[in-house]
Amino acid sequence: MADAKGNNSKFTGVAYSPDALVAPMLAEAKKAIRGDDSRFLGGGSQRASASSEDFSIKKTLPQISGRRFTLEESKSLILSALEDFDENLGKAAKDILATAQYKNGADGLKSEAAFRNLAYDGTQKNTENPYLSKDYKLEAGGVSQWNIEAVPPGQCRLMRCLPAKSEQKQQGENAYDPANKNDHAVIEFQFDGTIHSVVYMAHEIGHAIADRYGQNAGMTHRDNPAHMPEIQAYLAQHIVADALKNHRDPEIADVAAKHFRATMMESVKELPENTDMVKDRPVPILTGLGLYSHLKTQDAETRQTVSESLLGGQGPKNINEVLATAGFESPQSLRQFAQSAIHSATGQQPETKAAPPKPQNTSHP
Ligand SMILES: [Zn+2]
Repeated sequence: MADAKGNNSKFTGVAYSPDALVAPMLAEAKKAIRGDDSRFLGGGSQRASASSEDFSIKKTLPQISGRRFTLEESKSLILSALEDFDENLGKAAKDILATAQYKNGADGLKSEAAFRNLAYDGTQKNTENPYLSKDYKLEAGGVSQWNIEAVPPGQCRLMRCLPAKSEQKQQGENAYDPANKNDHAVIEFQFDGTIHSVVYMAHEIGHAIADRYGQNAGMTHRDNPAHMPEIQAYLAQHIVADALKNHRDPEIADVAAKHFRATMMESVKELPENTDMVKDRPVPILTGLGLYSHLKTQDAETRQTVSESLLGGQGPKNINEVLATAGFESPQSLRQFAQSAIHSATGQQPETKAAPPKPQNTSHP
């Protein structure tokens, strides 16, 4: 199926058509916002089980005073969630996590312990973040795929994955990303011990796994279509977030559910103003959620095939090619996919029960 360069010819006929996905997603989001204003805005609805603050991550996170996590605990939670979902994802994550230690070793662990019981402070702004400077040079390298620092709760300002053999970015959202000369991705991460750190550590690992899958398929990060990296990372993030929401420890489940709801509600609310698939977050985060929600109902083989396709393991793919491997190719099935992505985010039920999509088993020339 794949040629020497890792190109999978099976779906080359599927063109990138973001509108087929974005338009129905937008329509459903608008409906959800309109149809349940009180729930979104927290305005006095008896159905709302939490106060309005719960629906804005910026307001809610400072109030997440629940369960805190150590770096080691975070690593093992992420690993077991990814292993349970797909053994190949688990293998890649295990390898990446093998070097995930604080860069200053025992001092990092001491800082972590000291920060552990501090209240969340998301208000303090540090304008002199050394990581956001044109002069910052990446020091992590050799065998380590990480540059991790312990910071007090709410003080994380650095979460990024630098692809293997990547140059310094000159402009755009990642203008301060330094070059990474290593032949593997490097994750730079300020771990603050909150649920946000655990979930976003999974996100960055998703980027690193995609870098690895892509390299194994003979491509570099430059071959990955610009709209793909965030969707790739969000798949890993959603796998882990959902495992945490369903964790047997009720404190973990509770804080993860609050974090998920705040993040997703915010994405749905921001979608109408932010529909660009490359520059904005809502479409990638919601597409990743739709894909995860679908895949978790599928067998292990399907999860593996579609994850591999999304993460570049079959060579460069656009999102429509990936969705086609999951059975979403016709405008109708894409509409259905987009609508259920929004429902997974809001927790609202669709108005009418739609039939599940048929798995794709027709062969393409
Ligand atoms: Zn990302």
